[in-house]
Amino acid sequence: LQSHAPPYIASVARLMSSEASLQTDPTDERGFKGHDMLAPFTAGWQSTDLHPLVIEKSEGSYVYDINGKKYLDALAGLWCTALGGSEPRLVEAATAQLKKLPFYHSFWNRTTKPSLDLAKELLETFTARKMGKVFFTNSGSEANDSQVKLVWYYNNALGRPNKKKFIARAKSYHGSTLIAASLSGLPALHQKFDLPAPFVLHTDCPHYWRFHLPGETEEEFSTRLANNLENLILKEGPDTIAAFIAEPVMGAGGVIPPPKTYFEKIQAVVKKYDILFIADEVITAFGRLGTMFGCDKYNIQPDLVSVAKALSSGYMPIGAILVSPEISEVIHSQSNKLGSFAHGFTYSGHPLSCAVALETLKIYKERNIVEHVQAISPRFQEGIRSFSESPIIGEIRGTGLILGTEFTDKSPNATFPPEWGVGAIFGLECEKRGMLVRVAGDSIMMSPPFIISPSEVDELISIYGEALKNTEQRVA
Ligand code: PLP
Repeated sequence: LQSHAPPYIASVARLMSSEASLQTDPTDERGFKGHDMLAPFTAGWQSTDLHPLVIEKSEGSYVYDINGKKYLDALAGLWCTALGGSEPRLVEAATAQLKKLPFYHSFWNRTTKPSLDLAKELLETFTARKMGKVFFTNSGSEANDSQVKLVWYYNNALGRPNKKKFIARAKSYHGSTLIAASLSGLPALHQKFDLPAPFVLHTDCPHYWRFHLPGETEEEFSTRLANNLENLILKEGPDTIAAFIAEPVMGAGGVIPPPKTYFEKIQAVVKKYDILFIADEVITAFGRLGTMFGCDKYNIQPDLVSVAKALSSGYMPIGAILVSPEISEVIHSQSNKLGSFAHGFTYSGHPLSCAVALETLKIYKERNIVEHVQAISPRFQEGIRSFSESPIIGEIRGTGLILGTEFTDKSPNATFPPEWGVGAIFGLECEKRGMLVRVAGDSIMMSPPFIISPSEVDELISIYGEALKNTEQRVA
């Protein structure tokens, strides 16, 4: 394939995008071209000299741009609008809370009812093991930053001042604040930001298809990765390693479910060296994988858990950490000694965010959202996998309502030159046909709302198929 593909394809993708929006969208007249935002993860990916796609309205599984064009939101915003974009009960919950108490904080033993109720509800909802306390943040990044501070505080309390290093994994995404970006295993988050911080180490990415050795089974691959982790721990000194952090299914790194027996073997290693296990469930919690939590699906017994995103169906910014009883007890006794637990944010446990999150969790239960995801996901997974034979698809992977496609010349080692922009072309072909997916290099990711209907799944598959056909024609 490669010899026929035009080398200028990335610039073609760029042109297509700018031409498409020029034809349909006079946003420069409205002042959006070359706009004033330093937008997240935007400059360099697509220049802000181009017209941004300005989304104005949402309805169920769809969003509409400022020109009224309708898109199937195949990423649920940023993996978050689990109940779609127009759930009236969440609007009502927010409005009622705004009228009653728009804000009060949770510092110094003052708090609000919605935050107390949400903490209780979260502890009851998480059943992979018993958790003790909940700490609220405004985002997934803040949750993971807070995890590091809690773990350090805990180890200081236990008189283990050297047990401070964190092990994360290549290709993981844990957020973009200083510490969360350090934990992340994506080079772009480190380059020129002077990251990762020196206390963060990275171990292997558990991507079987890309990294297995010839003849190696999934189980053998998992054994090798667990051995590598153990060797890293021994090399650094077990007394210096505080915690291991992992997403049950890697999200932004390209949707990478764990290979068989992976978490069983990894957990055995971290347990052996008294290393805490942090499950970053920011994407996987509340039903995305067809289980309430990723920990349920992969039999993970974490010490700490991070959640955000679907916690409020993305309607309000909120994140949370679930802390094991053992750790929360130590944190309490340490804080009693010091006179305070000096960590928190003005908006930790914001009553509006908590009220919306409470209503979200209530709806998940009432509508048996986990069962719904279980029922709908085979249609989604099998429908997309029917395109596996495409000459430009290397691998399609995922579980539940999360799925990644990797474009390669079939084999994991035959990647397309980045300047061809194969992923970007596919993304634009989807966009032209009214569907939004996530593009990262030649990886495409989708995580539709939990409420997606069978006919919407069929529409998603049909747009994917047409976009794929057109991308194949451009590449071949
Ligand atoms: N952790 C994971 C697994 C994520 O996918 C994300 C965001 O995508 C984060 C943490 C960071 O969350 P936020 O963007 O809310 O800071």
